[in-house]
Amino acid sequence: MRKFLISGNWKMQLDRAESLELAALTMAKLKDNCPAEVVLMPTFVHLDAVGQLIRNSQLKLGAQNVYFEKKGAFTGEISPAMLDDIGVKYVLVGHSERRHIIGEEDELLNKKAIAVITEGLVAVLCVGETLDQRQSYRTVEIVGRQLDAGLAHVSSEAVDQGLLVVAYEPVWAIGTGHTATPQQAQEVHKYIRDKLVGRFGEPIASRVRIQYGGSVKKNNAGELLAQPDIDGLLVGGASLIADEFLGIIQAAAQVPSH
Ligand code: PEP
Repeated sequence: MRKFLISGNWKMQLDRAESLELAALTMAKLKDNCPAEVVLMPTFVHLDAVGQLIRNSQLKLGAQNVYFEKKGAFTGEISPAMLDDIGVKYVLVGHSERRHIIGEEDELLNKKAIAVITEGLVAVLCVGETLDQRQSYRTVEIVGRQLDAGLAHVSSEAVDQGLLVVAYEPVWAIGTGHTATPQQAQEVHKYIRDKLVGRFGEPIASRVRIQYGGSVKKNNAGELLAQPDIDGLLVGGASLIADEFLGIIQAAAQVPSH
């Protein structure tokens, strides 16, 4: 059974007070009734404060980015060990905004994924095609390349230990209000699952959670989660609105885990 994983990526939003308020509200509402594993991903400067607040709750802490080196003269960067030290469990690797705005490429992202996993944290490898790529029927080629490159040298043992999550996030769906249909998403999720089977074998691949991300709201979360290979949601904009994010989490209660 793959427990649903619902993550809120707060991006470069919310000041300290707003971050703590949103985390406190989410925590209070989910108290004894959390149908999924829920991860909050605040901006780096508020990670520790939010982490301390949610420490004894069912909420988990996630980071939006990381650097692959352990320590040293890397001004402005943050290592997996530093994230581990403040209670981070999940780390995004290759979010489309980092690939397309900051210019991070597959080779760097692979180093980041390996560094995260080596630290014993969960790497959430984000993959997804642009609108142009989808319209020219290159979705599978792009997602396949991002997966192959991102997972190079990742061991079956690490994946077996649950240290890998894949997030399918079509770039055309992120922050645009154009969610992939459940069928469009399932088609790519199934392709990702099959790739994982080829790489790690069926028993391990069948335990890897594959999240969907891209304009998820409380009113479309349920139909996405009902798809057999959609094991969770990576939520941007809607995770900043408590009622929306809680609605998305509650949608998981209506759908049996896969
Ligand atoms: C994201 O940031 O990963 C994301 C999917 O954003 P949004 O939900 O706003 O489309």
